[in-house]
Amino acid sequence: MHLPPAGRDIPLVLDSPHSGTDYPADFGYACDFALIRKSEDTHVDALFAHAPSLGAPLLAARFPRAYIDPNRSPLDIDPELIDGVWPGQIVPGEKTKLGLGLIWRKIKAGTPVYARKLTVDEVWKRIDECYLPYHAELQRLTDRAYARWGRVYHINCHSMPAVGDRETSADGESVRPDFAIGDRDGTTCDPAYTKFTVDFLLAKGYDARANDPYKGVELVRRHGRPAEKRHAIQIEVNRRLYMDEETRERNAEFAKTKAVLDAYLDALAGWIAKR
Ligand SMILES: [Zn+2]
Repeated sequence: MHLPPAGRDIPLVLDSPHSGTDYPADFGYACDFALIRKSEDTHVDALFAHAPSLGAPLLAARFPRAYIDPNRSPLDIDPELIDGVWPGQIVPGEKTKLGLGLIWRKIKAGTPVYARKLTVDEVWKRIDECYLPYHAELQRLTDRAYARWGRVYHINCHSMPAVGDRETSADGESVRPDFAIGDRDGTTCDPAYTKFTVDFLLAKGYDARANDPYKGVELVRRHGRPAEKRHAIQIEVNRRLYMDEETRERNAEFAKTKAVLDAYLDALAGWIAKR
């Protein structure tokens, strides 16, 4: 599930929660598979694959995001998706009314994922077998770094469609920047970490923005506690910089974008070592 560091370690941990492409046999979706795949951050784990050679573990989900989304609260259950009554607390998130909660009910506005409701057991199985192990492993990796170094830097790695969706994106149908760095408006890390990342990408000639159009969700919220020297940012890479959004194949830009991210991780490792 993750690539361990090769004989050395630094206080940096990466995770890629949405790049999984192993579709479980019991998924039981009823919509077009091509639409389901649009929810993947396909290849993001490959874009950040340089990290382990620097001593930073990279955790990558194998299960797909549309099956269950690790970047949501486990309480973010959509009552409209459940056959019967969920026997636990429910705290729906802001996107759940759009059908984009812990387990997606809609793949886009007006298009349901399923032709049925999910049983309580079915939902619990996804939490138990995918969500909880993913979170436990990420917690273990960040705690391991923290125990050794007294501080940890986390990068939560994602990609975004080149253009937003009219109904489901907070920014509507807008054209996205090259990179969006999220720290939930300065609450999940030392602001210098966000600034270092944005400035590095700007210096390479990219349009990089902080908290626009994405600020970060559950994973940076959970792992970013700057007062404890636990610093988390979310990086969203524009998909046009590395893949064809229709075929989901890597495009000609992939190698260049990966080289820039390799250089960023090298620079970040040096920056962290001095702090
Ligand atoms: Zn993502």
